[in-house]
Amino acid sequence: MTELTDLTLSQALEQLRARAVSAVELTRAVLQRIEQTDAALGAYLTVTADRALQDAEAADRARAAGDERPLLGVPLAIKDVFSTAGIETTCGSKILRGYKPVFTATVVQRLYDAGMVMLGKLNMDEFAMGSSTENSAFQLTRNPWNLERVPGGSSGGSAAAVAAGLAFGTLGTDTGGSIRLPGAFCGVAALKPSYGRCSRYGLVAFGSSLDCPGPLARTVEDVARILQVMAGHDPLDSTSVTQAVPDYHAALAGGVKGLRIGLPKEYFIAGIQPEVEQAVRAAVARLEALGAQVVEISLPHTDYSLPVYYIIAPAEASANLARYDGVRFGPRIEKGEMWPTYKATRSLFGAEVKRRIMLGTYALSAGYYDAYYGKAQAVRTLIKQDFDAAFKQVDVIATPVAPTTAFKIGQNVDDPLQMYLADVFTLPASLAGICGLNVPCGFDEAGLPIGLQLLGPAFGEDVILRAGYAYEQATDWHTRRPVLRNEA
Ligand code: GLN
Repeated sequence: MTELTDLTLSQALEQLRARAVSAVELTRAVLQRIEQTDAALGAYLTVTADRALQDAEAADRARAAGDERPLLGVPLAIKDVFSTAGIETTCGSKILRGYKPVFTATVVQRLYDAGMVMLGKLNMDEFAMGSSTENSAFQLTRNPWNLERVPGGSSGGSAAAVAAGLAFGTLGTDTGGSIRLPGAFCGVAALKPSYGRCSRYGLVAFGSSLDCPGPLARTVEDVARILQVMAGHDPLDSTSVTQAVPDYHAALAGGVKGLRIGLPKEYFIAGIQPEVEQAVRAAVARLEALGAQVVEISLPHTDYSLPVYYIIAPAEASANLARYDGVRFGPRIEKGEMWPTYKATRSLFGAEVKRRIMLGTYALSAGYYDAYYGKAQAVRTLIKQDFDAAFKQVDVIATPVAPTTAFKIGQNVDDPLQMYLADVFTLPASLAGICGLNVPCGFDEAGLPIGLQLLGPAFGEDVILRAGYAYEQATDWHTRRPVLRNEA
């Protein structure tokens, strides 16, 4: 018999609807698994067990009374970057330790309104800066496929929790790859929606022109269900778009016959792990066999994405992080006077966050602004125009998510540039504001998952979900589950 925690979100919903299982049973099963395995994994920063059971009881009562809300009784968990009223929200930083927001992020509120059971808050790189979750001020998160490897970042807790069966779905945020990369490293479906598709209200801000909240889950279908609830305009975020939200679930079944898939030559470069390239090319061949048409394309400004991102994201971060001064949020290190108090309190930031603040402050300073920030914005436009031109030729672009599979814990911690390189294939889409999906497409010789990235035009989530779903239906990578040490 399969365990309840092995189910996908969609299967769990089906069982709830058929009254084959109650929300309380489902929630107990997940909480028990968290208790048994998370000490070794470190996915959760906060487990809201009491609240989860209360939510589950309420969901069961509501269902008995005829309620059919889309996520009723489904246990989910949230990256600690999202403000959650009454629940500690640290963003992985000591500077927010103990902070309990008085309001809830819009996308989380929408999940509550759709009936989710709240399991808790997930570990992440401090202020979402990182690619391995090793920048969390509190703990490591380990990759469920191999505990000596990183889960990717910054939404490492969100991906590890799904892969290990510690939630049926999770929310993450993606500024430069932070949903797709951990999705790939942990072998789960993971979607970065287009910029503006989902509200940023209540996110702890990192790069305001880049931040995108999105779902991670076991299957593309599961991800579509969560996106459906999250997406749509929010009067509290003026950058969220008013464009109508399609029926993502209905869009899944369309298949890929006639779909034009672009393979950008700039993404198949020297240095990429051979097994990654092979698996991604095999996945594209599979889509071709299913009726898609594959076209080689070029995105000529790809090389500039990394330097452009590392001007723009730190510049925006340096502005956003000015608010942590010990007065309004979190702890204060009191030194009697204002400046010494600010200085001592801000020493609570970790090394990577300080590096970003310095880079960003420099790039924005008088005399350098035009040369760095202004120039980076101009090149960003060229990167976006590459995609605009490509999407006149193709419907979807297929690439690897990352040049390698999950690296070893500690391997890149002293080498920020090496760490930044993990995102070379995810940064361009972030700068362009388009959407991207990770779909598991194989394993390397060490047994670590490989991710296929499907990119779509802005607000083309339905198209990449359809392509990802067709691929998933034709393969069984998404059905594999890691065996955790205490289960072996
Ligand atoms: N790894 C990238 C960075 O450190 C992207 C992080 C993210 O998407 N939040 O900035």
